[in-house]
Amino acid sequence: MAKAKYTTHLGMVDILPDESPKWRALENIIHEEAAKFNFEEIRTPIMEQTELIKRGIGQLTDIVTKEIFAFTKGESNYVLRPELTAPVVRAFVQHHLDQRGGSQKLYYIGPMFRAERPQKGRQRQFHQFGVEVIGTDNPVADVECIAFMIRIYQRIGIKNFELKLNSVGDPESRENYKSVLKEYLKPHFDKLSELSQKRFEKNPMRILDSKEPEDQEFIKNAPVISDHLNEESKAHFEQVCEMLSSLNIEYTLDPLLVRGMDYYTRTAFELTSSDLGSQDALAGGGRYDLLVEEIGGKPTPAVGFAAGMERLFIACEELEISLAEEKKVDVFIVSLGEDARKWALKTLPLFRENGVSATMDYLDRSMRAQMKDANRENASFTLIVGDNELKEQKFTLRNMKESEEAQLSIDEIISKLSQ
Ligand code: AMP
Repeated sequence: MAKAKYTTHLGMVDILPDESPKWRALENIIHEEAAKFNFEEIRTPIMEQTELIKRGIGQLTDIVTKEIFAFTKGESNYVLRPELTAPVVRAFVQHHLDQRGGSQKLYYIGPMFRAERPQKGRQRQFHQFGVEVIGTDNPVADVECIAFMIRIYQRIGIKNFELKLNSVGDPESRENYKSVLKEYLKPHFDKLSELSQKRFEKNPMRILDSKEPEDQEFIKNAPVISDHLNEESKAHFEQVCEMLSSLNIEYTLDPLLVRGMDYYTRTAFELTSSDLGSQDALAGGGRYDLLVEEIGGKPTPAVGFAAGMERLFIACEELEISLAEEKKVDVFIVSLGEDARKWALKTLPLFRENGVSATMDYLDRSMRAQMKDANRENASFTLIVGDNELKEQKFTLRNMKESEEAQLSIDEIISKLSQ
């Protein structure tokens, strides 16, 4: 085939007609389960102010330093959203959602944009679903977020995952830990990667997140935050762990799990799957008690997660799980001749009004070609109409699976198919 003149940008993918049913199926599952958890959907614009994303995600994160798609138009700086926690919190503050009372249990589904190097499971436009519970620091909220996340994978039949859990502490514990960590890393400073050296002063915990080979030895032997949590943070984390156990949700403690964003406090978690290959993270999240204040709201604790939808589909492929139902149409009208085609066009709405999906040939083709089309479209029935049928007002209804035919009036056909 000739190469197309225009193609998608690197790392940006079309969702073609054969694939969209599985997307819709997954979206339906997310909406259904969210309703069961009493989460409410929020939809925010694709573009946000660059400053929000820089503040919300952190100046020194990979996302902000390397991966945002940003441009200026007139006086405004635009960025294609790389994630949705900061935008949802922006909406919470902007629209005073706290005034609705209680904690806000929000969920979202949508595309995100990051200029990463594309590979399997890593795109530049990808999709996430996620939850943000804003307005409570009760560990129940942390556990409900995790339970919702896991429920989605369980319902789909993805069981081979690992939930990794850590606490990155409250500000006091973090300050304690940061000085212990810096003390430990200081003698090795010259041997750390350039990026880690940059992070050393401002955000030494992010060094634990480093994938640079030269950092690994120091990371392996580093002091762990769980030994430096204050009483409050420790108690909060213990409650999260206990509640997860009471729900039979298995987890492993991972003291190196600090997550990529700067605003996380206390609970941090990640869901990984060995079905995914090198990009093995299905989802990740945690508590971000400092973010609402950081972007101009009142101090408000919050917790959430984000899950990659493309990665979920990769796991489905590995496990041969099919989310989409087989494509089909109830009736395909095979029309022969000008009058029959006009009749077919006028008859389609009668089916549709009665809840029967219906289509017809658009190309004025031969009976054989139309029957072939009906098969390709996986039609349950074909209705065959030509001049004779119009005269008699009796039409041939063919059951495609059973290869049986009957001569029926249009009322009889509609009543048969709409049952
Ligand atoms: P993050 O917002 O970085 O915590 O990512 C949350 C989840 O989104 C990850 O666990 C992945 O499943 C997914 N994800 C993140 N970045 C990408 C990407 N570039 N392409 C596809 N999925 C991604």
